[in-house]
Parts: sequence; structure tokens; C-alpha cells
Amino acid sequence: MAECATQIIPTPLYSPKLVTVNHELWQGLGLPEAWLDEDNLVRQLFSADTPLTKLSIAQKYGGHQFGQWNPMLGDGRGLLLAEVIGADGAKHDLHLKGAGPTPYSRHADGRAVLRSTIREYLASEAMHHLGIPTSRALCLFTTDEPVYREQQERAAMMIRTAPSHLRFGHFEYYHHSNEPEKLDKLFAYAFKHHFPQARQAENPHLAMLQEITSSTAKMIAKWQAYGFNHGVMNTDNMSIHGITFDYGPYAFLDDFEPHYICNRSDHQGRYRFSAQPSIGLWNLNALGQAFRRYADIPSITGVLESFEETLIAHYHELMLRRLGFSEKTTEALACITEFTLLLQTTKHDYHLAFRELCGHQSWAQMHEVRDLHLDIESFDKWFTNYQSAINAQNISFVDLQSRLTKENPAVVLRNHHAQNVIEAAEAGDFEPFNAYLAALSTPFSEPVSAPRFATAPDADVKGIALSC
Ligand code: AMP
Ligand code: MG
Ligand code: MG
Repeated sequence: MAECATQIIPTPLYSPKLVTVNHELWQGLGLPEAWLDEDNLVRQLFSADTPLTKLSIAQKYGGHQFGQWNPMLGDGRGLLLAEVIGADGAKHDLHLKGAGPTPYSRHADGRAVLRSTIREYLASEAMHHLGIPTSRALCLFTTDEPVYREQQERAAMMIRTAPSHLRFGHFEYYHHSNEPEKLDKLFAYAFKHHFPQARQAENPHLAMLQEITSSTAKMIAKWQAYGFNHGVMNTDNMSIHGITFDYGPYAFLDDFEPHYICNRSDHQGRYRFSAQPSIGLWNLNALGQAFRRYADIPSITGVLESFEETLIAHYHELMLRRLGFSEKTTEALACITEFTLLLQTTKHDYHLAFRELCGHQSWAQMHEVRDLHLDIESFDKWFTNYQSAINAQNISFVDLQSRLTKENPAVVLRNHHAQNVIEAAEAGDFEPFNAYLAALSTPFSEPVSAPRFATAPDADVKGIALSC
């Protein structure tokens, strides 16, 4: 794979400080405890050929950005440091974000700011603990070195992990640049390390595309069920493992607004919440072009056609679980539709609407939730149908409550909390960051020591849109 990347050592930053380590992940990857010493870690990072910088490569890729093909992309501010075999026996990339300029930086500085690394750290851990596949955050460094964006900010670096950093855009790049030998090599690498079972199929490439299609559909189903808006679904930000990746101006919904756009630069709303399923398919179509050397168009289209069905089935499964059902019945599915319509018309907070159903002793007590809804009449109608659909599945009230509490988080990542945490960290106080991270790491428990993290934002800080 050497021809698809450039070897380069991270550019040192002035006086980096290790501010957070994900110990659970560190151990899961089987990384030595001895590396956790700040001086040791920093020395390894900025030297060639240490265990931590065995590869130290910037990868080349392209991508469809807002629908337009851009061949000029690559790791512009990140490096693949090393690959490690975790305790799970699988391969994991260690990727340093904010590593300094690379051949793909295109006049930018190759740095990451503290704000964006904190946002990525919080989001990837929040997603993981909600059960949504994602890259993970391993550790975070901060420095006093300034970087310049709209204003002066503090530089930071983080190491993230993922099964690989192979993006749709890697495959698209070697297809569109008409380098079939390199495309063959890329596929060979992907089969060997990540899709070994696909090699047994009659057409291994189609089997790989099928796996990517299914995992992407399930990932997006989870985004829709848990109210996550990615914001920049360019094909260079799509992982072939169906994991959420490249966190930018993402947001979890506050009020249930299906057409919410978290990315302030997305003027057409291409990546709005409600468009994520169709954009997922659009992106898979773009990826599918790179498979044309190995399969005919009807076969590729045939694989992609499974996307919608997989996504809808998985979305239904998740939403049924969020409402405590154990079986997929017409009545139960109608409860999902009616509930989301209710939230949409009255702009109820998406997460609280589910969590408010938890923690009750009886149906009568649960019914008091009606007072929190603006359209009480519609709520009552829904509640009656809901109660009979649950009863029809022979689910006791106690069982219902325990199901609801397991599926509906008390704590979700909110932009206004993230903003407060970032402001404290920028002033040198990482305590709020650590507290929020802890709450997001046990999202189904009430955050007893920091109850503010379970609250919805006030009107003035709701539904904030951010830029990349
Ligand atoms: P993103 O918006 O993070 O998906 O990045 C799009 C492209 O811009 C990728 O090729 C990045 O590597 C590159 N990029 C983003 N920020 C920087 C930066 N500060 N320095 C260099 N390249 C960057
Ligand atoms: Mg990106
Ligand atoms: Mg970004």
C-alpha cells in the first residue's frame, strides 16, 4: 500500500500536554501501560520508527463533496501512526489528528483546534456508548501553540482508532484516476485485512460491496433512530466499515425537526437529518463505480437495492425497542409513526420524549407525561393505542419500564453543553469535559452527580448550527 500514501513524521507542537486518556480503550487495544507516561508518549509521537509511529503515513484519497467529485483530498491534518492488533484479535488503526502539514494539506496548516478535537472526542464516545458504530477517541493532547481560524485558537491533537481509515473516497480515487493496478492492490489489502469472508463468495467484490451496503444502512438507521445528524456526508467521510467517522459540525437533534441542518455551510440542506438515508444510498452508488472493473452494472445495482430494505428494517427494530415492544406488529409500527408525528408537530425534544416514558410505577403515572406535551388530545389518542399495543404483546408494566430504560438514554450529546465544556477547556479547566465524558459513557443512567447533563437546552441555544 506504500504507493497510496506518503510517509511523514508528525510535526512537533510546543509543550504538548496529555489531558485525557481513554483507559478502557487503551487496555482493550493491548497497548503497553508504560507508554502512558506523557514524556514517553510525546517522544514516541515525534520520532521516526517508534512503536507508535511504525507507519506514520498520510493517505491519499478523493471524495464527492456536496455532490462534486474532488480528487485533491487526502490526510491533510492527520496521519496513520500504526496498526495494532487489539485484545479482540482484530486490527485497529491509531490515527493522529492535528499532526501538522502533509502533502495533502493544500496550503492549510495541518493542525486541529482544541474545540474540534473535544467535539470529536465527546461525539465518538457518546456514539459508542449508545451502541452506534464509530471511530473511538484514545487520547487528547493540548498545547499553548496558537492556530489561526476565524480567530486565534489553541492547537490540540488526538489519537483516534478505527478498524481502518479506508473511506469510500479511497476506492473512488483509484477508479477515477484510472489506476487499475492500484485499485486492485487496494482491494487486495481490504480483502486480506477486513473482508476475508467475502473472498469465499462467487464474486468477492460483490460480497464486499454487500457488506459495506448492509453496515452503512444499519449505521444510518441508528443515526435516524437516535437523532444524530452527521452534517458532512461527503464520500471521503464515509468508512467502508459502516462506522461513524470524521466528526465535523454534527449535532444530535434537540426538538424533533426532521429537516434540521446542523452544518451552517450546507445552504441547500443536502445533509439535513431527513436526507441521510437517501444520501447514504447516493454515496454507495458513488462507491459502486469503483466496483465496475469487477462486476457488471446490474449486479452492482442489485446489491445497492438491498440498502433501503436493510435500513428500514433496522430502523423499525430500533424504534420498536425504544418504545419497549418485543414484536413487530402493525399496531406497534403504527405507534412509532404516530409518536414521531406527535413530536414533529409539537416540536418536542426528541430524546426527552422517550426518556419521559421511563421511571414510572403504573400506566396511570406514566400517563401524566401528557402534561409535558403541547397537543394533549393527540397524546392521549396515541397513549391509548400504545397501551393496547403493548398489552397485545403480553409485556408487563414492570418489564416495559425496564426495556424503556435500557433503550432510551438519559444523557445525549448536546451542542450547548459541548460548547460550555470547550470554553472551560480553552481556559485550562478540563474538569467539565471529564464530567461530561463520564456522563456520556453511561448514557442510560441518570447523571446523578451532574443532573444538568440530562436537561434539554433553553430556547436560545436550541438547534445550533455549526460550520466545519
Ligand atoms: P474534512 O472537512 O475534515 O472532511 O476535511 C476535508 C479535507 O480537508 C481533507 O482532505 C482534510 O485532510 C483537509 N483538511 C481539513 N482541515 C485541514 C487542516 N487544518 N490542514 C490541512 N488539511 C485540512
Ligand atoms: Mg474528512
Ligand atoms: Mg472535518
